[in-house]
Amino acid sequence: MGWFGPHGGGGGTFARGIHPPANKHFSTGCAIEVVPCPERVVLPLQQNVGGPCTPVVKPRQKVAWGELVGRGEAFVSSALHAPVAGTVERPAMTTLPNGRHMPAIAIRTEDPGLTGQDLWEAVFGGPWSNDCIGSYEPQQIHEAILEAGIVGLGGAAFPTHVKINPNTQKPIHTLVVNGCECEPYLTADDQLMRQAPDAIIAGAFLAGYAVGARRVVIGVEDNKPEAVESLRRAVGRTGIEVAVLKTKYPQGSEKHLIKAVLGREVPLGGLPADVGVAIGNVGTMAAVARAVVRNRPLTHRVICVTGAGVARPKNLMVPIGISIGEIIDYCGGLTAEAARIVAGGPMMGFAVADRATPVTKGTSGITVLTAKDIETSAAGPCVRCGRCVEVCPMGLVPTKLAQAARTGDLRLARRHNILACFECGACAYSCPARIPLVQWIRVGKTQVARSQGR
Ligand code: SF4
Ligand code: SF4
Repeated sequence: MGWFGPHGGGGGTFARGIHPPANKHFSTGCAIEVVPCPERVVLPLQQNVGGPCTPVVKPRQKVAWGELVGRGEAFVSSALHAPVAGTVERPAMTTLPNGRHMPAIAIRTEDPGLTGQDLWEAVFGGPWSNDCIGSYEPQQIHEAILEAGIVGLGGAAFPTHVKINPNTQKPIHTLVVNGCECEPYLTADDQLMRQAPDAIIAGAFLAGYAVGARRVVIGVEDNKPEAVESLRRAVGRTGIEVAVLKTKYPQGSEKHLIKAVLGREVPLGGLPADVGVAIGNVGTMAAVARAVVRNRPLTHRVICVTGAGVARPKNLMVPIGISIGEIIDYCGGLTAEAARIVAGGPMMGFAVADRATPVTKGTSGITVLTAKDIETSAAGPCVRCGRCVEVCPMGLVPTKLAQAARTGDLRLARRHNILACFECGACAYSCPARIPLVQWIRVGKTQVARSQGR
């Protein structure tokens, strides 16, 4: 059973983009460790793009490991499950990694359940037989993903059941799986591909079958040769392809990965489905396999803790809802040079001010930067060098977008397609005048979205 496509291909990429220092050496090759169960987890009610979930538990209620605690009621929302067995506390407020305040369900742990290697085996360990995964129907796969509360684990946190859904209006011919991890520093996906390739292949197979794809391709950048080898060994008879791509930022964005792997352009303002493609991250695929084959919801994820500001960088498997402070302590604490904690990578992540901030489903890593890493000169005037335009992967004119935001000129912002910017930061990274282009563009996007009643 399989797609029987060619095993390989690659060398592709997309136009423009940048090559920032990879800085992956801090945690590359560090085997994934399972963090001890925390005494308490805090689960924000919204960890996904779309609507929040509604609590289905009350204070003082006992919950079991993996039990449903929040139901996603909107079509674009996701369910929430207890990552520990314990007692629900009084309603809490928390701060998301992006700084937004959010109601949360807090659970005091009473029984950690499986720990260490036993937990790893239950979540990622084999066997994931291809014969066994061929026995599920598309609707069964879709429902298992929905019930498990799976969202895109690459950082986007878009509910996976919305994407992995047979699309009668826009038939899907190809599932592209994102193994790029193009953000500097981060290595969690790389390590997952090395250590749990069978779970990823099983999930990709199931997701491809569920969307009706004739072809499944995993795109991996050429700076991860061990991951490529590991996936190629695990592909077996599935016919899933592994495409090796030239390393470039931001190749992991949906539109640019589709261009790199398939040579297809997603139209401005369009979606992958417009060109017959569905897309998902490697960690998301492993979560799909677990939900379908083992009936296990999304309660844990793999993250990377990295940078010169943390004593012992690691790749970790953690429960959703553990605090960023506890994770840093597990990694030996901060170094004397630590200056900024970032949830995610340095290009698209968010600076975190509070150690109590919980890891959410979309937290792909914690990067601790030093003063030297973030030192920057004051912004100067635009020297019209055009570098921001040369690197923008969306073909936008960042200098015009920032100008439109600064002057409140929404017509100019719209004319230059400000909403097409996905805030990759390539323009700001390249600007010799150190103009905070992305911050301005973010302001402009908010102004335009408000003016359109969004
Ligand atoms: S304008 Fe937006 S999409 Fe273009 S480089 Fe800047 S942040 Fe990235
Ligand atoms: S890179 Fe900076 S200085 Fe150069 S055109 Fe763009 S905004 Fe101006």
